[in-house]
Amino acid sequence: MVPMIDLKKQFAGIKEEVLAVVTEILESAHYVLGPKVSEFEKKMAAYHGVAEAIGVASGTDALHLAVKALGIGEGDEVITTPFTFFATAESILYTGARPVFADIDPETMNIDPVQIEAKITRKTKAIIPVHIFGHPADMDAVMAIAGKHHLSVIEDCAQSFGAGIRGKKTGSFGEAGCFSFYPSKNLGAFGDGGLVTLHDTGLGDRIRMLRNHGSRGAYKHEFVGVNSRLDELQAGILLVKLRRIDAYNSRRRENAALYNACLSDRVLRPAERQGMTHVYHQYTIRSPKRDQIKNRLHEAGVSSVVYYPVPLHLQEALGFLGHKKGDFPVSEEAAEKVLSLPMYPELEEKTIREIAEIINNV
Ligand SMILES: *Cc1c(COP(=O)(O)O)cnc(C)c1O
Repeated sequence: MVPMIDLKKQFAGIKEEVLAVVTEILESAHYVLGPKVSEFEKKMAAYHGVAEAIGVASGTDALHLAVKALGIGEGDEVITTPFTFFATAESILYTGARPVFADIDPETMNIDPVQIEAKITRKTKAIIPVHIFGHPADMDAVMAIAGKHHLSVIEDCAQSFGAGIRGKKTGSFGEAGCFSFYPSKNLGAFGDGGLVTLHDTGLGDRIRMLRNHGSRGAYKHEFVGVNSRLDELQAGILLVKLRRIDAYNSRRRENAALYNACLSDRVLRPAERQGMTHVYHQYTIRSPKRDQIKNRLHEAGVSSVVYYPVPLHLQEALGFLGHKKGDFPVSEEAAEKVLSLPMYPELEEKTIREIAEIINNV
């Protein structure tokens, strides 16, 4: 079976370096928030061109702590996209605030700035754009709207590590950038991990305390926080992969270009806007014959996944928001047509050609 992502192949390429750093950390007996996490945070801040980067336990926590650190809570509203992974909305709900959805741009499947403006009320405190599948959201427009209405912007960069707009990295536009190092993400740990990037070191102080029980240390607690720390092993392994992330992303981009060239015009291929660098966390096509394509691929031993079959406004868990089918038609249409194909740096040219041929024959 051709997998969606081949983490065994990736590990084979870095095995010696990973085993060396893991041994070093195990022997150091320093396992949580130690020197590797500090080094990783410094390198992450430099990579993104921001003042601070803070390691946390997951991408979900990165979002949750960023929303919380901005003082957002009960009675507040946060505007986001319904076409994303569930955690984006959960992070808002954890704080007691309400997620308010704005429909997506049909070309990029990212939040549509025009739809954002229509959703702003006196309760709106922030916007969370998601750089879905690795394509940057329209940050020029999002930042302009946020500036005009005095709203915070928290970027959900879980799928966009290394992506950018005119050379500026996602995660460096808003007040906070929230990253996930879940193993299947472009920069993946060997377990869970996350990161918040920030310009404001005051906000950074709050997030550092929030991740550690509201404490600066020494058992003095200024407010109630959570336990959300990045461990040394994940940071050590991520440092090894960080040295290769730009090469990994370049390979993804080459693979996407080959898919684009081989696939027939009868399937909608992913857009890449002028000036934007897409990192193809997913290579996602759209077709009214999606299910047929998926079945044919499965018969031929090729994996494919529907990200995401149910937009958030139609999720059972969010039924209390009172939405119905038809509320966000562009997201609903995307959910019916999308199909993500195998995509990883080690994917071979011949496999891409074979996959494209199967799809073209449908
Ligand atoms: C993966 C993901 C998250 C959550 O990250 P975890 O590390 O799994 O908690 C949040 N938002 C999006 C868009 C994601 O893809």
